[in-house]
Amino acid sequence: MSSSTTIYYQTMSPTASSSTPPPPQSSALPPTSEPHHSNIPECADSNRPSPDTSKVIPFRKPLIRLVLRDLSSSGSRAFLRLVHASVALQDAVDTVLKLLYNGLHVSCIPPTRSVTLVIRDMEGVAYTTGLDIDQDHKEIHLSTNYIEFIPESRQKEEIMGVLVHEMVHCWQHSGFGKAPQGLIEGVADWVRLKAGYAPPHWKRHIDCDWDAGYERTGYFLEWLEKEHGVDIVQRLNEAMRDCKYDADKVWRGCCGQGVDVMWEKYKRYVEDDCGEGKKEKAVEEKAGITEAGPSSPTEDRPKPQEDLRTAREKARRGGNMHVPVRPKFDG
Ligand SMILES: [Zn+2]
Repeated sequence: MSSSTTIYYQTMSPTASSSTPPPPQSSALPPTSEPHHSNIPECADSNRPSPDTSKVIPFRKPLIRLVLRDLSSSGSRAFLRLVHASVALQDAVDTVLKLLYNGLHVSCIPPTRSVTLVIRDMEGVAYTTGLDIDQDHKEIHLSTNYIEFIPESRQKEEIMGVLVHEMVHCWQHSGFGKAPQGLIEGVADWVRLKAGYAPPHWKRHIDCDWDAGYERTGYFLEWLEKEHGVDIVQRLNEAMRDCKYDADKVWRGCCGQGVDVMWEKYKRYVEDDCGEGKKEKAVEEKAGITEAGPSSPTEDRPKPQEDLRTAREKARRGGNMHVPVRPKFDG
C-alpha cells in the first residue's frame, strides 16, 4: 500500500554503552497504513477468553524460510551446528505470539505471511524488514560476523535471543509507525527477557529515559507487570494496533497514568524499594566491573563496529537480494 511506512530498528550490540541511547536498528513492523475504523472485533474487551498456556495460532500459519548466503563462513557453520533452524524459528514465532496475543482474538495478530531468516556477511547484529510490495512478508537478517564474534559458550543462547527479539518485530503493533522506537525495541527485549534469553550482561538502568529502548525499556515493562497486571505489555501492544500512537491515550488507557510518572516510580523502585541499584553497584564496585558488563560476551574481544548506515544502504550491501527499503521513520 502506498501509504505504508517501513520502519527499521537494529538489534543492539551487547557492548553498547549504557549512557548512549541505542541507535535505531532495522526491523520492519507490521503494516502501517493510516488509521481506519475496521470491522475487526475489539480484542481487549472484557469478554476475552482467560489466558491459558496453549499455543496461540495466527489466522494463517506463516511460511518460514532460511537463506544462507555463504555456507563457508564460520558464522554460518556455527549457526548450522548449534541451531535447528526450522524448530528455532517456529519456537520464536510461538513464543512471541504467546507473550503478545495470548487470550486475544486472532484478528488482533498481524497477518504476517512469511518470515525469512537471511544469514549473511554484514555489519551490525541483525535487523528485520518487510517487503514494500507486501508488508506481510518479513525478512530477518542476521550477521555471520556477529555470530563469529560471540564466545562459543554463549553462541546458541545469543542467536536464539536475537531471533526472538527480531521475531517480535514481525508480529508487534506500532501505532501505525508512530510509537517511539524505544518502546518498540523495549517490547522486543521484554519478550526476549520473558522467553529466558536475557544475556548475562543485561541489567536495569535508570540513568536514561523510559524509552531508551532495548533492555532499559524492557525491564521497565517487566516492572509494569507487577504494578498493572501480567498482561500490561499485551494491552500496550493492542492499544497500538488500530490507531496512531498517542502517548496519553496508550499509557493512561492501559495504566491510568502517564508514562513519565510511572518511570519515576520505577526509578525509585530500582534505587530504593528493591535495593537492586545499590546492590548491583556494590557488587560491581567490589568486582571492579565496568559499565560494559561483567559477562559481556565481547569482553577481551574487539568491539563490533556500530553500523551507522541506513537500512537502505545495508540492504544494498546485501548484494543479490532485493530488499526494498524506505527512509527510516524518525518520529
Ligand atoms: Zn529490534
